Amino acid sequence: MPLLSYEDLSVLLPGMARPVLDGVFLQVEAGEAVALVGESGSGKSVTARAALGLLPPGASTGGRVTVDGCELIGADAATLRAVRTGKASMIFQDPRAAINPVRRVGDFLTEALRLVGGRSKAEAEARALELLAAVGLPDPPRHLRQYPHQMSGGMLQRVMIAGALTADPRLLLCDEPTTALDVTTQAEIMAVLRALQQDRGLGLLLITHDLDLAAASCDRIYVMYAGRIVETATAAELLAAPRHPYTAGLLGSSPPLHGAPQRLTPIPGVPMGLLESAPGCAFAARCRFARPGLCDQSAPELEPAGGRLVACHLADTVLSEVDR
Ligand code: SF4
Repeated sequence: MPLLSYEDLSVLLPGMARPVLDGVFLQVEAGEAVALVGESGSGKSVTARAALGLLPPGASTGGRVTVDGCELIGADAATLRAVRTGKASMIFQDPRAAINPVRRVGDFLTEALRLVGGRSKAEAEARALELLAAVGLPDPPRHLRQYPHQMSGGMLQRVMIAGALTADPRLLLCDEPTTALDVTTQAEIMAVLRALQQDRGLGLLLITHDLDLAAASCDRIYVMYAGRIVETATAAELLAAPRHPYTAGLLGSSPPLHGAPQRLTPIPGVPMGLLESAPGCAFAARCRFARPGLCDQSAPELEPAGGRLVACHLADTVLSEVDR
């Protein structure tokens, strides 16, 4: 059984014309790093939060989400607490927005260790020092006494990673964990996350808009557009030969990591908003391959094509035309 599993998850908010999430299938195995990639507003963060039972108020849901065998949709308070305090932890984008600015780093860490783990004050402090060392902070006793404003963004994100490990989770949910950081610090944080994930055999779901970062950090990638998974493959396959026009568009609009510089090609148009809906493919208005009478009439299902799963009516015929 996968550590994290979404089966046909749909989430509809009141007053919206289309679902935030529409039939999402996604799996993360224990010890596996998986990325969920898409533009802002595509539904990535809602997907990640659903793994902790944190869906928007008033949302109508369908399908299933399980973490380590626990069903999250419609779960009671005891199940939610068990998942949030022992099976899964989340690391958010902006560490300064996720920590109390008037309390010391040590309070932030030891409070969770004492409340959830039932440790004494001395045991909690000893464990907090271990965790700060594990995330690569150079002077754990000093950092334990510091306030958040005395630390850089990169150091504070390491503290947040240490905080996420206080409950010894099996699954780490990382929602754009490096977006607020500079490029060098970004690489350091991703290296810390990947090392912890591999050393401890954790499942990791990385939410990001950066396909190159996802490919460099993860084993498999899911690409999401307008609340639907449109392509999934191994990171190497996806980067080498994208099969969905949206995936190709993401790659074509970001600078290549290797080789000669190339002219960037932005994806035309804007993503479909929640107040818009269409009977066909949600990407049709932006897709250079769109075929009138087909793409604008029925939504493509996620089906095998080119050795992976792709949601595109023309996945087989546009394969050779889609390149970076
Ligand atoms: Fe483009 Fe049609 Fe494929 Fe949608 S189904 S991505 S519009 S070719």
